[in-house]
Amino acid sequence: MKRIVILGATGSIGTQALEVATWRGYQVVGLAANQNTELLLKQAYRYRPLLVSCAPEAAQWVRQALPDGTRLATADEVAQLEADTVVAAIPGMAGLKPTLAALRAGRHVALANKEAMVVAGPLVWQVARAHGARLTPVDSEHSAIFQCLVGERLEDVAELILTASGGPFRTAPENLSAVTPEQALKHPTWNMGHKVTIDSATLFNKGLEVLEAHFLFELPLDKIKVVIHPQSLVHGLVRFNDGSFKAQIGPHDMRLPIQYGIEYPERPPVPLAPLPLLGTWEFYPPDLKRFPALALAYEAGRRGGVAPVALNAAGEIAVMAFLQGRIKFTDIPRVLERVLKRAPQVPLSWEAIAETDRWAREVALEKQ
Ligand code: MG
Repeated sequence: MKRIVILGATGSIGTQALEVATWRGYQVVGLAANQNTELLLKQAYRYRPLLVSCAPEAAQWVRQALPDGTRLATADEVAQLEADTVVAAIPGMAGLKPTLAALRAGRHVALANKEAMVVAGPLVWQVARAHGARLTPVDSEHSAIFQCLVGERLEDVAELILTASGGPFRTAPENLSAVTPEQALKHPTWNMGHKVTIDSATLFNKGLEVLEAHFLFELPLDKIKVVIHPQSLVHGLVRFNDGSFKAQIGPHDMRLPIQYGIEYPERPPVPLAPLPLLGTWEFYPPDLKRFPALALAYEAGRRGGVAPVALNAAGEIAVMAFLQGRIKFTDIPRVLERVLKRAPQVPLSWEAIAETDRWAREVALEKQ
């Protein structure tokens, strides 16, 4: 029986990882959550992990309410538990530290947190390699590309192609400035957390995924492409130097890339209806005028160093401000651009990441 740890257990990926754990019969040894302590406790009673972690302000009552045999710990301690796989699904910059703790403990990490790769990709790989830790992607597009690359040589790859649904505003309304958070939170195909759903509506999510792919697969940025595919059934493609394509196709169900990320290279069956290969599948180029956030991610990648750190931090602040009604939908890319323009040009280091992240949040919060 596999022993697994889930970081970000109460979020969208975390709860679906627990569904995979249930149908695969994994032993869940650790759960890390933040504020949603009610759900964390429910999970603790159901799965009886050895360790759980939560936000410090909730620690006292969670400690008292835990079942026998489950102890309260820090997220880093949960990440380092003896386990076959750690599913790293704490969103945002907050997910970086526990992901590193798992890698330093030599754990296999099934990586759902994009930011670890976006802000610190080369450093994360250094840590993983130094500790003999394996990394497999969980993000659906990256899982797709990873699957296309099995048995292939990186030098034979001409380009990696990430698909994007295009989000709720792919074609309408023409003017995006009056779009409300409620409208932006209605994603046409995927059901996800708030940050990633808003990022999907601006295509900033695809921008982050371009950077994630660039660092995860260690291929130059100009080999990473994006295509709009509203049906969201082809999750990613690879074009090889001989002109041949490989694609990975599947239903919109995150439990599949989660299970693949844990089980790779095995493919045990899943209790889901098979995808019927019917209907029309469309592919369009992305509209960078309408969705400038995608172009800004490429720009950050070309600048290199800590530019992606600044862009990511600006994105976290801009989405929060939009959800709180403080800025317009079309202000999101403006905040990104403003911060990126002023981003320091310094090489990547852990200190520079922390400093740039703080700096960028402050600049993003400045009133314009
Ligand atoms: Mg994705």
